[in-house]
Amino acid sequence: MAGTLRIRGFVNAHSHTFQRAMRGRAAGGDFWAWRELMLAEAERQTPDLVRSGYEHGYREMRAAGYTAVGEFHYVGVPEALAAAEAADAAGIELVLLYVAYARGGLPRFRQESVRDYIGQVEALRSAGLRVGLAPHSVRACPADWLEEIGKYATDERLPLHVHADEQPKEIEECLAEHGCRPIELLARTGCLGELTTIVHATHADGAELDLVAAHGATICACPTTEADLGDGFLPAERVRRRGIPICIGSDSNVRIDPFEELRELEGIARRQTGRRGVFTTDELYAFGTEAGSRALGIDAGPAIEIDLGHRSLRDVEAADVSAALIAGCAADVVVA
Ligand SMILES: [Zn+2]
Repeated sequence: MAGTLRIRGFVNAHSHTFQRAMRGRAAGGDFWAWRELMLAEAERQTPDLVRSGYEHGYREMRAAGYTAVGEFHYVGVPEALAAAEAADAAGIELVLLYVAYARGGLPRFRQESVRDYIGQVEALRSAGLRVGLAPHSVRACPADWLEEIGKYATDERLPLHVHADEQPKEIEECLAEHGCRPIELLARTGCLGELTTIVHATHADGAELDLVAAHGATICACPTTEADLGDGFLPAERVRRRGIPICIGSDSNVRIDPFEELRELEGIARRQTGRRGVFTTDELYAFGTEAGSRALGIDAGPAIEIDLGHRSLRDVEAADVSAALIAGCAADVVVA
């Protein structure tokens, strides 16, 4: 086959682009040991480093077929402005998911109060950035912060993204502090709605998934990162059965390849169910495109082109190309 095939550009709904620098490092240990190294990498970020490093990361994303990215950003306001410049230079649409961080992490992540946080969000909006709200997690934000942020997101019709249920320890701590699980706390504090994206939901139980479905929220799966960090598996079949929209993110950017994220998602579902084709090819593409756009509150981006003459598509019938891209190709099939 020769020529190209035009398909919709992919949406990367969850990225911490500075973490790209850590690939191949930090082997061994667990999530919490990795987190220590990640904090050290976060600590050394400056606007200049973000401006140059993120442009490289965003160019890699663009080359892999991502046309938009949700940057889940907790390393400061000047660095957020630098990320926006980097995205412009790389030609990728950016939604800056600006993080609220009340406690834990590094001092540079934290705001003094939730009012200060909202003020920073408003400053970034005034600077022309497309912004979403991002209470980091129930670890980092107490209930009163979640209430304020949920209300602001609802009033302003802005996307709200939050990590939840990535690691069992976070759930144990939430139960001890609030007597409920993370997604239950998000529902209770007005942070769960149609504009909400729950990032990970790896260890969500049935009642939490019911809440996500009932509130019309989305789940962002980040399978290559979740594998790399030893997080566990998205309960893919239980999510599918409830009709919860799924989008994808490259998260730590250990891999930048939308086909691989989608293949992993389907692979997880197959391992869990013992069946093949748990998600249809069309559903998987919708996770990578429409669901991501909706999660970020943006319109469809530009199309991308697939090189039908690529060696990984040799002898694939035209009717099988879409499925073969997900089942058997890497992002280098995308025409630069
Ligand atoms: Zn994340």
